[in-house]
Amino acid sequence: MSDLDSFTCETCGDEFKAYEDAAAATRGYCSPACQTEGEGLA
Ligand SMILES: [Zn+2]
Repeated sequence: MSDLDSFTCETCGDEFKAYEDAAAATRGYCSPACQTEGEGLA
C-alpha cells in the first residue's frame, strides 16, 4: 500500500512522486532547486 501520488513540477515540468501530504507535493516542486527557482528566490 502506498500513499504516493504523482505531481508535475511547477518549474521544470517533470513528473514526480511524493506523499500527498509531503512538503514537495504541497509546494508543487520536485526539488529544493526547482522551488527556489519557481519562487524567484534564486
Ligand atoms: Zn522540478
